[in-house]
Amino acid sequence: MKRTLRSARDLAAAGLVTPARAAEITPVEARYSVAVTPAMAALIAAGAEDVAAQYLPDPAELVTAPHELDDPTADAPFTPIKGVVHRYPDRALLKPLLACPVYCRFCFRREAVGADGGLLTEAELEAALDWFARTPAVREVILTGGDPLILSPRRFAHILARLSAIPHVELLRIHSRVPVAEPSRVTPELLAALTLETPLYLCVHANAAAEFTPEAGAALRALHGAGLVLLGQSVLLRGVNDTEAALEALFRTMLRHRVKPYYLHQLDPAPGTARFHVPEAEGLALLARLRGRVTGLSWPAYVREWPEGGGKYPLGMPAMQPGAGHPRRSG
Ligand SMILES: *Cc1c(COP(=O)(O)O)cnc(C)c1O
Ligand code: SF4
Repeated sequence: MKRTLRSARDLAAAGLVTPARAAEITPVEARYSVAVTPAMAALIAAGAEDVAAQYLPDPAELVTAPHELDDPTADAPFTPIKGVVHRYPDRALLKPLLACPVYCRFCFRREAVGADGGLLTEAELEAALDWFARTPAVREVILTGGDPLILSPRRFAHILARLSAIPHVELLRIHSRVPVAEPSRVTPELLAALTLETPLYLCVHANAAAEFTPEAGAALRALHGAGLVLLGQSVLLRGVNDTEAALEALFRTMLRHRVKPYYLHQLDPAPGTARFHVPEAEGLALLARLRGRVTGLSWPAYVREWPEGGGKYPLGMPAMQPGAGHPRRSG
């Protein structure tokens, strides 16, 4: 498998779905983009169900539950200029494009990503960069999208150079799926673009331990070597990582790759994603069972997004018994 699979037909030709299943999921691709990279297709072909569930379309996506919203994060009112979201005083998002290397079936921005790629024009990008230059309250620029690491290294280097030249920009952060989903994009050219004086945090989105292939491991090692601080973000997903064993394996695998788990997101109610929903109480109980038994370095903040633009909110832990998680002394 050499190229990204982009349709039910491609998936059937690669043997990832049967022809009958391909016929069932074809209507989904008219509404939501499909993309499975060679790296992820290889895992699915080898039987990784927790990877298949994240990327293979399902007819259930065409059914919108009553509580599901087109724009669950409600970013629109916080958009001072195209491509920028400024919700919190000291940091703002820059979304240079709305395309991704893979399309997650549970994506919270699924109504916006894919399709035409949403690439900012030269003029729009320059206007967005100018907005950062004249907004001194913003100390941190968070590059997201879509996935900024699929921009050409040349274009990406230009954006990073412009941002790191702004005196009040103290931190840069990238949110990306690339290091695990398409590690072949982590080339010497990209690494050169990412080597900066300004501290650069890379928040890697991964939901299952299986996503950390040897190629992903090499890409993460190289990124760490280039001076990036690596963080992990995951979404709690039914059928992917909704067990104690799966979460423990995910967090331990991240840490072995020098990736510090940062966020575990409660699923946002985007249309057609109900099959992935795990109730908050269940998520809290899962985390409580890991606490104490698994290194504290693995501990992410478990967060949800309030609807209608309320922002992120950390979900609390139920009170624990003193010593919970430690083996009981007997005798
Ligand atoms: C999540 C998010 C951020 C980053 O928040 P942190 O808590 O710093 O990770 C910034 N802006 C928006 C709009 C966000 O949704
Ligand atoms: S990588 Fe992120 S933005 Fe892209 S499809 Fe997946 S969840 Fe959505």
